[in-house]
Amino acid sequence: MVRVKVVAPGGLGAELGITPGTDLLAINGRPLDDFLDWEFLSADDAFVLLARHPTGETVEYDIERPEDLPFGLELDPPHIRRCANRCDFCFVDGLPEGLRENLYVRDDDYRLSFRYGNFATLTNLKPRDVARILEYRLSPLYVSVHVTDTVLRRRYLRNPRAPDVMEQLRAFAAAGIRFHTQIVLQPGVNDGPVLERSLTDLWSLGACVLSVSVVPVGLTAHSKLQLVREPTRDECRAAIAIVHRFAEQAEVERGHRWVHGSDDLYLVADEPLPPASWYGDFEQVENGVGSVRYLQLRIAASEAPLPRLDGQRIAVLTGTAMGRLMGQVTAPLAERTGAVFEVVGLTNPLFGPSVTTAALLPGRAFQAALTDRGDLTLALLPAESVNDEGRFMDDLTVEELARSVPCAIRLSYDFGDALVAGRSG
Ligand code: SF4
Repeated sequence: MVRVKVVAPGGLGAELGITPGTDLLAINGRPLDDFLDWEFLSADDAFVLLARHPTGETVEYDIERPEDLPFGLELDPPHIRRCANRCDFCFVDGLPEGLRENLYVRDDDYRLSFRYGNFATLTNLKPRDVARILEYRLSPLYVSVHVTDTVLRRRYLRNPRAPDVMEQLRAFAAAGIRFHTQIVLQPGVNDGPVLERSLTDLWSLGACVLSVSVVPVGLTAHSKLQLVREPTRDECRAAIAIVHRFAEQAEVERGHRWVHGSDDLYLVADEPLPPASWYGDFEQVENGVGSVRYLQLRIAASEAPLPRLDGQRIAVLTGTAMGRLMGQVTAPLAERTGAVFEVVGLTNPLFGPSVTTAALLPGRAFQAALTDRGDLTLALLPAESVNDEGRFMDDLTVEELARSVPCAIRLSYDFGDALVAGRSG
């Protein structure tokens, strides 16, 4: 059963009299378990829907979908599938107390992998899940492979029952399913020859593996530091050398580079980022792969004319990782607008200095940095540091932050959005 949360006015659902709180029970006699069942089974032009209204009344609707009329139903969020692994570096283990509640959920859900591009290990799939992936052809899936050797992978995931990921990928690939994959590098565990073997195995699967990202493990001050450590500069350099070798082979043989290191890998290695053209279609930009180059491209390609902001002082707040690279991004903005840009790389007070990504900065880090900054016209904050409800990691809201600091603040994905918005606001 799936429950309706919101009914859009003017949609087919509203026309049928479906209201928030209605339970959608079955389509053509098949029970509905989650949003996937609903979306795939209701995609036909005609079907019978069994629903139970909040009054308790059960109604059977014989539906013929008019063209161009969406159902307009938003469903309650699904129950998240929990992770069956216990990786030494698990982000959830490294969380201090008192953060947003959903951050403590150790999710590993193939449905969210398909829908939102969340990475899943596929270690908790039941036969019914496999059947659904095949029936609905959930593709592409985002898969945390980490290491292809089953013995090593079980040790890596701390899950003695983890299935053979190569077998899983082969079976899904035979049904036409494709994958974006990631390898989170733990030094001495899945780097060096193990990384080479994993890339060789993934390459052998052919075109079904659309991309591979290689990401250095990120730890917090609360991680199990007695069990796992971050890679050194030289270890990241060695990983980059392997990645580039495979990427060049892929470029020659398949016309695209296929495997990429994350921006963090280059940062720790203290090596320059490859040019934008290296990243092809930026398939894993959400995973921190090519983020800086992507941002630069977006700013350069933006057709919206940037306003003149002469005399304004604008701070760009970000994590220490991007802070080191952000000057490359703000220099052309300063030229185009006349504003003075100041990049402020913030150390993460919750997780410690080793966590350098902007997305994990708590609201109070921004608050502390801006408390005495009445000299600023505007402070731009990374939009990825808040959730859909506008809350930072530590539950502070954007509104609360705005009320507590002496300068205007604005969330921004690519600066151009916030600077153009700033003209009227
Ligand atoms: S797969 Fe590993 S890192 Fe991811 S949630 Fe599970 S235990 Fe944590």
